[in-house]
Amino acid sequence: MENKEIRKQILNKIIAYEKIIICRHVRPDGDCMGSTIGLREILRISFPDKKIYSIGYQTAEYLSFLSLEDEKLPEEEYKDALVIVVDTANSDRIDNPYYKSGKEIIKIDHHIRVEDFGTINYVDEDMPATACIITELYEENRDILQMNQKAAQALYVGIATDTGRFRYRGVSAKVLRLSAILLDYDLDLEKIYANLYLKDIASLKLQGDVFRKFKSTPNGVLYVYVTNKMQKKYNISPEDAAALVNSLDSVKDSLIWIIFVEQKDKTIRVRIRSRFVAIDKLANKYRGGGHANASGAVVYNGREIKQLVKDADEVLEKFKASEEGWL
Ligand code: AMP
Repeated sequence: MENKEIRKQILNKIIAYEKIIICRHVRPDGDCMGSTIGLREILRISFPDKKIYSIGYQTAEYLSFLSLEDEKLPEEEYKDALVIVVDTANSDRIDNPYYKSGKEIIKIDHHIRVEDFGTINYVDEDMPATACIITELYEENRDILQMNQKAAQALYVGIATDTGRFRYRGVSAKVLRLSAILLDYDLDLEKIYANLYLKDIASLKLQGDVFRKFKSTPNGVLYVYVTNKMQKKYNISPEDAAALVNSLDSVKDSLIWIIFVEQKDKTIRVRIRSRFVAIDKLANKYRGGGHANASGAVVYNGREIKQLVKDADEVLEKFKASEEGWL
């Protein structure tokens, strides 16, 4: 079915339901929170008589300027609801144990398609952010849907964060046109970027350790392991430590960079980033996934770290042998 047709179906479902619960993925990022809040606010002002909730159990402190306003509902409240899950490729990453109890489930996502867990599954892999999809849904239904500044700001943050501040290849003219619609709501960009960029001194100090400790493989994969001990030294959360992944993003010939962050439960979160070369299949091998140039995974010990780094090195070696024009 055509994407436009599915968007129409989604809108019809939204119109048909009195109660709508919006869910998202664990470890919410800018696009996850932005598309959740953007959709919630659009629906609240467009349909003031409906009950519209956004429900997730994990949050991201640095995004608190976006009016998170999460609520919690008991499972029985889901039974007559339309559940919309945004920005989540696979059901085991949905940050809501009750989402399945919804009367119908709609998936709206832009990650590589791995699992159709909805009654309607809308996946647009060409969009660099789920927030773009929500903005498009609004844009083509302006006769029914309304936007306000709160929604526009959240959606803009979703697009800005998932495109590396409008730097990645996924940024098409269409993406900029959709973003321009949001800017029409008088957004304070300086404030938005201050919220996204400013960090505290402790995290700068940990970044110093990252710069001192990172290693390189023979083919140029950069990687660093941030242990609980390092996080404790500066009193930094695993979430804030993980935010340092792009500290290693601008080294010539190092097209893949990886941060391993030890979690409180001793599991190790892996964030893999790359330019030009795809790393999502590498992440799949280690219980993860995501996008071609930004994926996450989980490993459990030093042996797996070594193996993953070795695999990444092979990916990069093959890429360099077969491709030209990379930097
Ligand atoms: P992160 O490094 O956590 O920002 O993740 C990068 C991208 O990969 C995001 O779009 C995540 O939603 C996705 N991702 C992260 N971890 C996983 C995982 N374990 N399984 C599937 N996708 C993931």
